[in-house]
Amino acid sequence: MSRPKLLALLCLAVAVAPALAVEPRPLAIAIHGGAGVIDPAKMTPQRAASYRAGLAAALDAGYAILERGGSSLDAVTAAVRTMEDDPQFNAGRGAVLNHEGDAELDAAIMDGHGPRAGAVAGVRHVRNPVELARLVMEKSPHVLLVAEGAEEFALEQGVVLVPRDYFRTEARARELDEARQTQAGQLKAASPGATGTVGAVALDRAGHLAAATSTGGLTNKHRGRVGDSPIVGAGTYADDASCAVSGTGQGEFFIRQVVAYDICALVQYRHLTLAQAVREVIHEKLRRSGGEGGVIAVDRSGNIAMDFNSVGMFRGARDSRGQRDIAMYRDAQ
Ligand code: ASP
Repeated sequence: MSRPKLLALLCLAVAVAPALAVEPRPLAIAIHGGAGVIDPAKMTPQRAASYRAGLAAALDAGYAILERGGSSLDAVTAAVRTMEDDPQFNAGRGAVLNHEGDAELDAAIMDGHGPRAGAVAGVRHVRNPVELARLVMEKSPHVLLVAEGAEEFALEQGVVLVPRDYFRTEARARELDEARQTQAGQLKAASPGATGTVGAVALDRAGHLAAATSTGGLTNKHRGRVGDSPIVGAGTYADDASCAVSGTGQGEFFIRQVVAYDICALVQYRHLTLAQAVREVIHEKLRRSGGEGGVIAVDRSGNIAMDFNSVGMFRGARDSRGQRDIAMYRDAQ
């Protein structure tokens, strides 16, 4: 090729390069640490700092995976596992106790690519229920395994089981005592001062969405009670065609209103924005039915919505546009 031709080609390449440059796909993750009855008046600066540190650790563990090019599935697993291991949260170690004084744990994970789902309910010896839920999704033909059957499956998969005492903390035992005395058989989302369920939603570089939720459920719950967290469409949902959602609050209401799926359906079929869909379900439908709680959600474009109709919702969000927020109450505190 002649020199002038080469030069002309080079000039052309420089001129069109910016137009051809592909914007990197957005990354986004959001987490929650529950929307239980958290009385702001009881929140000391030390406790607030400790919860914020716990949320930050989970948020950053998940985001680091997305940044390395990892999957949204790995990111939500890591974020939820981090909070399951943190006794401040109502999941894994530190989960609330049922009427008999045992932790009965529920968890679900959903991969928007497929979509695929796995869940476990009523497990009492599994250190990280979110990992077992993922094994159900990846290594079994089923979606939901419960109680002893789920734990048998855990053993078959080489998951190390832990004694029941592993989950029990003094704080949760105290809350159970109070609840037994004051509730006279009624259920409460969480004792005053306690936080709730944990969850994460994420969008990865490949454009795939994922959601995961893990919980001990409600303090003083009936043995065998299963909440919304492991019910696909109620407390957990993800579909690459719409969005990924993880909820927290009074599970019975989330199940009846099919909250997580309803939000994604409004996005997919009525073309609402994520924020509009979340608002409609949490502030209209759920509230009208008497249900309290909130959700975190992310859509295919990396938009994040975190909304609740309760006093607060422990939450955090981080994305590739530079957002990194952690908050507990309405005023982003
Ligand atoms: N949604 C959970 C359940 O009902 C509780 C919570 O979010 O705190 O099991």
